[in-house]
Formats: sequence, C-alpha cells, structure tokens
Amino acid sequence: MSKIRTFALLSILGLVPALAQAEWHSREEAIMGTRVAVELWSEDAALAERAMDAVIAEMRRTDELMSTYKPESQLSQVNAHAHERPMEVDADILTVIERGLEMSRLSGGAFDITYASVGYLYDYRAHQRPTEAEIAAALPGVDYRQVVVDREARTIRFLREGVRIDLGGIAKGHAVDRSIDKLRELGIRHAMVNAGGDTRLLGDRRGKPWIVGIRDPRAEGRMVTRLPLADEAISTSGDYERYFEEDGVRYHHILVPGTGRSARAVRSATVLGPDATLTDALSTTVFVLGVERGMELVSRLPGVEAVVVDAEGRIFYSDGLTPPQ
Ligand code: ADP
Ligand code: MG
Repeated sequence: MSKIRTFALLSILGLVPALAQAEWHSREEAIMGTRVAVELWSEDAALAERAMDAVIAEMRRTDELMSTYKPESQLSQVNAHAHERPMEVDADILTVIERGLEMSRLSGGAFDITYASVGYLYDYRAHQRPTEAEIAAALPGVDYRQVVVDREARTIRFLREGVRIDLGGIAKGHAVDRSIDKLRELGIRHAMVNAGGDTRLLGDRRGKPWIVGIRDPRAEGRMVTRLPLADEAISTSGDYERYFEEDGVRYHHILVPGTGRSARAVRSATVLGPDATLTDALSTTVFVLGVERGMELVSRLPGVEAVVVDAEGRIFYSDGLTPPQ
C-alpha cells in the first residue's frame, strides 16, 4: 500500500496523531533513583534525538558523580576520606556543595547537606531507623560549618570525623538545570525537563503555558492545584516519596538537621523560581521550616513563590500567587 493511502486509512481509523503534535518529542528513563522525563519541540527529528540523548547523558553523569549508593562515586570517596585530607572533586560537585552551603546559611541550617551524618542510619525500604542513642551519637556530625570548600584547589575537606554529606535535596535540580543549558546550546527553545520532584520549563508550550500539577500528598493521581508556567522551575518535596510507618508514625526522608528526625510540620512543599537547583533546595528547606517560617523565607527571595500543604491538609499560597477561586 502506498504511504499516502496508508496514512489516509490510519487517519480514518483515528490512529494518526494530530499533525500539529508531530514535532513534539519525548523520552522517559529511570535514573538517579527516580523517573527522568524530557519533552521538547523540534522540527528536526535528528536534532531532537541528539538533544534528548544529551539530557539523559547529563542525568547519568550527575548520578555517577553524586550518588551515595555507588561506593566508587566521587561523593562516596569524599565521605570516606574528607576528614583525613582534602579530596579533589569535579567542578560540578563543588558548585552543588557551594549552593547547598549557601542555602544552609540562608535557612539558618534547616537545609544542611550534612544531615546525612544521621541520615545514613535510616533505610526506608528496609523500614530501619536509628535508636535514640544512635541519633545522639551521630548528631555532632550534622553541621554544614564542618565542610570546607577550596575553589582554587577544587577540594572538599571535613573539619571533624563523623561528617557525611548527601546531595539528594539539591543534585536533581542541578542536573535539570544543566540539561536545560544543554538544550539551549543545541538551539531548542521549548522544553520540559523533569527528574522526580524537580521540573524546569524552557520557553512555553508554543503559544500556551505548560501546565504543572501539584499532587495531593495523600492521594496519588489527585491534584491540589495546577499552575500555568513558562521559563521557570518548580520543585516539590513530599513526605510520601520515601517513607515507612510504624505505630501510626510516618518516618520519611526529609530530616530536621537539629534533631535527626523526620520533619513533621507539613506534608508537601512546592517552590517556584528561576532555576531548579534553587527550587530543589528550597522545597526541602521550606518542608523543614514549615508554613510560617517557610513562607517568610520565600517572601524575602525575589522571583520565588511557594504552595505548602500542612500537616492537616490545609493549602497555603505565597503572596505572589493567586489561589484558585
Ligand atoms: P526527592 O525529590 O528525592 O523527594 P527532595 O527535594 O524532597 O527530594 O529532598 C529530599 C532529599 O533531601 C532526601 O532524600 C535527602 O537526600 C535530602 N535531605 C533530607 N533532609 C535534608 C535536609 N534537612 N537538608 C538537606 N537535604 C536533606
Ligand atoms: Mg528538594
């Protein structure tokens, strides 16, 4: 059958996607322990493939460098030896750590990559948590001021033993930002890159905004709200991502650095802002700070907004957002 006839037949059967959609390309993969997705517009199919390859490669690179699950990763090596000597690392790791430390200073320590000094004692999949005594013994290692970055020498050093870092609250945002940079370099002008709870939008959806939903923290598939966005990043931190329950208490993956225990003030915190490294770190931060202190921090940052669902399920919007009527 000729191509044209096949096409006509498929059209009649409703099997041909609308022609206007033909230049949207998308891909999804499991990387960094989460679902990575990219969607972009390009009239050049070969370029679209190369662009999506570049995004996936960027995500894999970040995972190789910064995973604490891989003992051979640079970050694992830092955790093993940085209390003995300065450890040389990739410039990307330095950048992420520096932005993490900046967020610690900005949040008075609510965001702290050294949370991992206690955090590593939890295993959510295995339903394991540390005892009171184990938490108390590990807590002195939680202090971002024990992490020293030397930009010139490109090294990381810890000032004491027992310090561990984990970039789980910021690295995905960084990988999303790097991906968007790559897409821009390749001439892409409309794209969405998503890694778990972190999303960044390049341009709009060709004349329309992108619509990003914020899920109900207690009902998968139900939305709290939907936001029309363009040229912006949005991240959500929730207590439903990694957790287990014991005697009706939910033990989840976002910890209060001062106590080494799961933060209890809210169920989810969503932050909108100019880049995903910032919104990723800030969503974790606002989650720890709770509604009042979280919104106070957000109001001090230009171009940043937030939507928070508190422990009772009430929804709060920052001043720059109009709640749906
Ligand atoms: P995810 O998309 O994985 O749910 P979040 O942005 O919500 O990521 O951040 C949660 C992750 O942040 C945790 O898995 C942990 O790696 C890290 N983390 C937990 N508590 C803190 C904290 N107080 N400061 C910095 N990072 C944290
Ligand atoms: Mg985050």
